[in-house]
Amino acid sequence: MVMTKVAIAGAAGRMGKTLIETVVDTDGVELSAAIERSGISVIGTDAGEIAGVGSLGVAITDDLNSVTDAFDVLVDFTIADATVANIEVCAQAEKRMVIGTTGLVQTQVDRLHVIGKALPIVFAPNFSVGVNATFKLLEIAAGIFGDDVDIEIAEAHHRHKVDAPSGTALRMGEVVAEQLGRDLDEVAVYGREGMTGERNRQTIGFSTIRAGDIIGEHRVMFAGLGERVEISHRAHSRANFAQGAIKSAIWVMDQEAGVFDMQDVLGLRHI
Ligand code: NAD
Repeated sequence: MVMTKVAIAGAAGRMGKTLIETVVDTDGVELSAAIERSGISVIGTDAGEIAGVGSLGVAITDDLNSVTDAFDVLVDFTIADATVANIEVCAQAEKRMVIGTTGLVQTQVDRLHVIGKALPIVFAPNFSVGVNATFKLLEIAAGIFGDDVDIEIAEAHHRHKVDAPSGTALRMGEVVAEQLGRDLDEVAVYGREGMTGERNRQTIGFSTIRAGDIIGEHRVMFAGLGERVEISHRAHSRANFAQGAIKSAIWVMDQEAGVFDMQDVLGLRHI
């Protein structure tokens, strides 16, 4: 079996550690480099020890340039500025990338797309296979039910989440709205209170729960008279994001230049 050599940037972070565990558990990939920001105590420590999977013989470095010969693909879950610097290094070294970092500003995304003209990159705000499959199921359901149903999106997350509705809930709304030829900005209703009047069928309602340690739950309801269909997704751990990212690392090895997302990796783009 051909082994894909994976480097992980942000190796000591929440996602970094989960990614290391996932690499160890996945056939066809091996950890060959681990990168963290300079000045923190984990530099020089074995990446496997940090992730709690035992020694892997890969010392965490703060210098991506020094390890570019060691890997085939960089999986980057860090912060926007670090990711953008890493893109430049990978472009020079002609190394493929899988990017999960969120919060890139438009100029950074534009730069990523320039580099993507010469380099295969997977860039996705949500690497969960289940969430990406759910987007496709929502598109199909909206196409079937059309304007005959009321559409409501409910999501629940842990008490530490600072934004609402979640980015995933908003994307679900966009998917449904696009399929129905509606503009989400015009039809979204974020919560209801008081004398709201009768429901307008064209609206797409959002409701939000924040409680405890819920990792992430999303439910989209297509409700007619006499019946309703609900499509839901529940995340049980961060493993789903890591599995999608490592799946992407294997997939990107067979791609020509371009910027791809999980819809491409899962082959959902044209079904
Ligand atoms: P975290 O803060 O736990 O980890 C980030 C790590 O990056 C830290 O260990 C930090 O030291 C490291 N880092 C910072 N600068 C660096 C540099 N210059 N070089 C190398 N490492 C550097 O955060 P997290 O929860 O692991 O999330 C990381 C990113 O991934 C966030 O942007 C988050 O929104 C995103 N994320 C994306 C998905 C997805 O599916 N796409 C899922 C979860 C999280």
